Amino acid sequence: MNSIPPIFLSHGSPMLLLNPGRTGAAWRRLAAELPRPRAILAVSAHWTTRLAAVSASPRPATIHDFYGFPEALYELDYAPPGSAELASRVAGLVPGIRVDALRGLDHGAWAPLSLMVPAADVPVIQLAVMPEADATAHFELGRRLAPLAREGVLLLASGSLTHNLYEMVPDAPDDIALPHVAEFSDWFADKLGRSDIAALLDWEASAPHGRRAHPTPEHLLPLFVALGAAGEHARASAVHRGYQLGALAMDAYRFNPAA
Ligand code: ZN
Repeated sequence: MNSIPPIFLSHGSPMLLLNPGRTGAAWRRLAAELPRPRAILAVSAHWTTRLAAVSASPRPATIHDFYGFPEALYELDYAPPGSAELASRVAGLVPGIRVDALRGLDHGAWAPLSLMVPAADVPVIQLAVMPEADATAHFELGRRLAPLAREGVLLLASGSLTHNLYEMVPDAPDDIALPHVAEFSDWFADKLGRSDIAALLDWEASAPHGRRAHPTPEHLLPLFVALGAAGEHARASAVHRGYQLGALAMDAYRFNPAA
């Protein structure tokens, strides 16, 4: 079976589901280009734990973990099967990981998947991020999961390349960014393009406006899991770059295995 490249995407506001725009089109295109996965391991910024955790619910519930949005978004359900088998494979690769039999799918996972796999016919489980741990810890977690790509599992890392909700500009047109948001995402594009792993893992000290772009790190941490899972010689390529509400960089990357 062909190896499936790990991907990172910025899921943006849930409103994107009502108006998918250029970002939604890029997700659909990406899904059409990738080999069809046997199962999906979604690493979501919206499941945060202190220690590593993986979900194993056989029928994961749709979690509507957002507030103050139009009713139509709360009526959406995304109901793929889970996969206890994939959860136990993950547990074999990550000794000591907690297996959560009850956890459903939060919008970090189901919002992009409802556009990418609308039939919901591929099993999905989730992996948590650990905001108290750093980029390197998430990169190492990803490295342990690297074999999954060759086993037909899509690692879908879902967060946001920048995520400062206090700076959102409500009426900002799509694709217009605050200057520091563009600077931060351009820095990542450059370092990802060069596979400069050392600089990327040191983003808090090295990237311009790191703390301003991410007052808390949980939306960036999924990227490092994908980077680790991609393997040493993988090449990142941007599948989408853009902005939402001035403060959210919507960039998405795939991590292609070395040729
Ligand atoms: Zn989010």
